[in-house]
Amino acid sequence: MKNKFAVCLNCMDGRVHLPVIQWIKENYEVEYVDLITEPGIDGILADFNSDINDIINKLEISVDKHESKYIFIGGHYDCLGHPVDNENHKKDVMVAVERIKNIKSSCKVIGLWISDEFSVEKITEI
Ligand SMILES: [Zn+2]
Repeated sequence: MKNKFAVCLNCMDGRVHLPVIQWIKENYEVEYVDLITEPGIDGILADFNSDINDIINKLEISVDKHESKYIFIGGHYDCLGHPVDNENHKKDVMVAVERIKNIKSSCKVIGLWISDEFSVEKITEI
């Protein structure tokens, strides 16, 4: 049986990883979640002046070698790497999802919000 991978672009914050991996495995047919982390990654991806080549190179390993079909992008409550309010986080996740979808159009790109209780909600899927 072939392993099914997804890839998640998420904050480096240690509080978010297990809830997000668990949520993805419960809601999608995925066995393993490759993780690409940066502090406040939703803010980096939503800022068109930021250099995201390094992130894209890592993403391509997962998409090309692990055949990941789903790309998740997370933003979370109380983020030190991107200290904006919740509504602006969600907006940045939306922008980040569209930016990554334009680069990897063959993948489903899903935006996630991780709340103050570290529960996961889907914001968008394109
Ligand atoms: Zn964070």
